Amino acid sequence: MRKNIVAGNWKMNNDLAATRTLISELESQVKTSSAEMMIAPTFTNLLEASKLLKESNIEVIAQNMHFAENGAYTGEISATMLKSIGVSTVILGHSERREYFNEDDAILKQKVEAALENNMRIVFCFGEKLEDRKSGNHFNVVENQIKNSLFHLETESWKSIVLAYEPVWAIGTGETASPDQAQEMHQFIRGLVNTKYDDLVSENISILYGGSVKPANAKEIFSNPDVDGGLIGGAALNAESFMAIVNAF
Ligand code: PEP
Repeated sequence: MRKNIVAGNWKMNNDLAATRTLISELESQVKTSSAEMMIAPTFTNLLEASKLLKESNIEVIAQNMHFAENGAYTGEISATMLKSIGVSTVILGHSERREYFNEDDAILKQKVEAALENNMRIVFCFGEKLEDRKSGNHFNVVENQIKNSLFHLETESWKSIVLAYEPVWAIGTGETASPDQAQEMHQFIRGLVNTKYDDLVSENISILYGGSVKPANAKEIFSNPDVDGGLIGGAALNAESFMAIVNAF
């Protein structure tokens, strides 16, 4: 049975003091939940966050990583480095990485492989831009992003993959895909995975929605049969709103 997951992507926000504060606020509000919780602080605060949340049921995850094990890649972080501080899940393919850091499907394929070789779980993001949606090309774009970076994987590897559909036009814009638009795309994605693999893979894969999810719209979005949770940006920077989204399950 697939899991419900709510993951907070803190992006380049929160210094060490703010990280400690937000974690302590989250801990004070956390209840038993039917959704798995994850937070992705910046690299510099991952170790502290992991220590603070060691005994909690909030998992600390990374926002990105490099595909190489080590070497001359100034400014980069590898899977082994993440594993060495207890981080076992990484977000890959976020639209901001694709857009501002030129991460294409081929680079992401290498990152996916590196993460899997290191027994990491991957929250793999993809989604169309506004012009793709307007021209009706959104299904094609999403299909190619998934196929090009993930469809070389063996069935077994899919146990370590979480998909996150994030239409770029809805990220940080206040504009959300309607529950029907989200369900339509999630159903398409599950069908795609089913066609390439089998029922076991497609029924067990968690597909998160991301793009301006807030306490006010979370319940309606999550109530769709093919939406298994959310990847949350802005609303994850506030403990009350993040927990309200988690509690929408
Ligand atoms: C994101 O960046 O993954 C995201 C969904 O951001 P926001 O919730 O702010 O739209």
